[in-house]
Amino acid sequence: MPLRPPIRGLHREQASGTDPAVERSAQQEVARLAELRAVHEAFAWFCSHSRELEDRQLEVTAIPAPYCGEGARGEWLKLRFEEAGLAEVHQDELGNVFGIRPGIKNDSPCIALSAHLDTVFPAGTEISVRREADKLYGPGISDNSSGIVAMLAIAGALRDAPITNVAPILFIGNVGEEGEGNLRGMRHIFHQRRWLDSIGTLIAIDGAGSETIIAEGLGSRRYEVTVRGMGGHSWSDFGLPNPIVALAHVIERFTRTPVPTTPKTTHNVGTIQGGTSVNSIPQTATMRVDTRSASVEELDKLERALRDALDMVIATMPGRGRKDLLSGEVKIIGDRPAADLPLDSRLLEVIHAVDAQLRNVAKVQRASTDANIPLSLGREAVAIGAGGSGGGAHTINEWYDPAGRDLGLKRILLTTLALSGVAE
Ligand SMILES: [Zn+2]
Repeated sequence: MPLRPPIRGLHREQASGTDPAVERSAQQEVARLAELRAVHEAFAWFCSHSRELEDRQLEVTAIPAPYCGEGARGEWLKLRFEEAGLAEVHQDELGNVFGIRPGIKNDSPCIALSAHLDTVFPAGTEISVRREADKLYGPGISDNSSGIVAMLAIAGALRDAPITNVAPILFIGNVGEEGEGNLRGMRHIFHQRRWLDSIGTLIAIDGAGSETIIAEGLGSRRYEVTVRGMGGHSWSDFGLPNPIVALAHVIERFTRTPVPTTPKTTHNVGTIQGGTSVNSIPQTATMRVDTRSASVEELDKLERALRDALDMVIATMPGRGRKDLLSGEVKIIGDRPAADLPLDSRLLEVIHAVDAQLRNVAKVQRASTDANIPLSLGREAVAIGAGGSGGGAHTINEWYDPAGRDLGLKRILLTTLALSGVAE
């Protein structure tokens, strides 16, 4: 639920920059920006600094950033933000890193560019990075070192090109996007009054590519379900209820729950654990369940089905007639809100205009990203790629090809400037 009314609509005013007499269409504004000499200088910056950007990308990939261990990478980013001349560079208590490029109207809602710092690789993963032929290799090199580097490229180009933005531009390196992180970094940011009140639009740069616009937040909820019993000997205690068998019944019941194809809704039992030896009745059995949907109501229905299946099995398991021999618990271990960017939003209009200007073809897609958080609060937000191409995401064989990175960077820059407004 929105914590406060959406501040949509303010951007239309900002986007006309210092020329309030003219309310330009997004396409006209983007075309105007693309012709500015200063913007051409910024475009040229992306090409003349391509080798430096690659070096930065290898450097940041080599700094491990597992779940809740993004500290060293955050320190590195702070230094880079300072070098890029950003103001108020600091880290919050979770490790999110901030830097601001002020505008000429600093009370306007800011345009935030974010890139998540964390990777899916647990602490202790051997991380080796290398450049081979024209490609870069290393775990996390695309997801999300390419996003971090895109942010630095935008900040660097704005430092060196004579562009005067109207609304301030906020740069964020956030923690906790992947898996267990459960969007903790972005969630924390939007719980702070300062950011909740000041961020008008958020563009999360996540992974390589220029061909998608993630404007529809895929909701997900994850559970850990545990069944506990007394345990015992397989021979002498035979007849005591068995938590693994109980859990099997829960799975059987739960997975029969019908789900709609529209909105697409899914469930998955991903892991199952329990028991100690073949001749022991186990004391516990645990499973982890992932549910996803574009609709919060469908996620709620699945949650009820899961809880009902567990209650029913616990209540009806035979076991020497004693109901207290088994107990069960459902713990929520992940919750990502579902929400969509309205089709008539200024942000979507601007990105489509930028894509038309750059002759880029991109599709609106649904996924679970940092943008879910502001979208669920009624803010305009998307996740887009950093340009170039990549593959092997979430594996140690991940790669990034910088060919075409400049297209992605131009796309991010034009979108940001069209939203913030540029003084003539
Ligand atoms: Zn990512």
